[in-house]
Amino acid sequence: MSLSLPLEGGCRCGAVRFRAAAPPMLTMACHCTGCQRMTASAYSLSAAFPSEAFAVIAGEPVPGGLKRADIHHFFCPSCLSWLFTQLEGVDSFVNVRAPLFDDTSWFSPFIETWTAEKLPFASVPAVHSFAALPAMADYEGLVRAYGEWAGAASSPG
Ligand SMILES: [Zn+2]
Ligand SMILES: [Zn+2]
Repeated sequence: MSLSLPLEGGCRCGAVRFRAAAPPMLTMACHCTGCQRMTASAYSLSAAFPSEAFAVIAGEPVPGGLKRADIHHFFCPSCLSWLFTQLEGVDSFVNVRAPLFDDTSWFSPFIETWTAEKLPFASVPAVHSFAALPAMADYEGLVRAYGEWAGAASSPG
């Protein structure tokens, strides 16, 4: 899974395009019923990127999903594809829907969350599984472990 930067991606119709100029910090599959509804599928797939390395380069994403004060889901205004998520008060990362990248060959979910709500058939090859979400204190170690895992996975042999 070699990753060539910058990564670019976009929505179904192409009106919104975005770019990530740094490798992801963590990759995830989320089995929660909220993600099941927003994807109309078994789980969501996302990659967290440092905010300063992520940019929308075409189009104007609009809020959708929960439209709550604490979590912001952004969508394409035309085709309504779910693009990325930001948490209120958390400026350090943006959670981008990984299947929207033009090249997804590098992607595999390192962690899976909300397995307590997963569809019975749904399984992903995540290295770490959580019944709900990891504790806030665990993220630093997970980000470090992901970096080692992704680095090892991309080196030959
Ligand atoms: Zn679109
Ligand atoms: Zn979820």
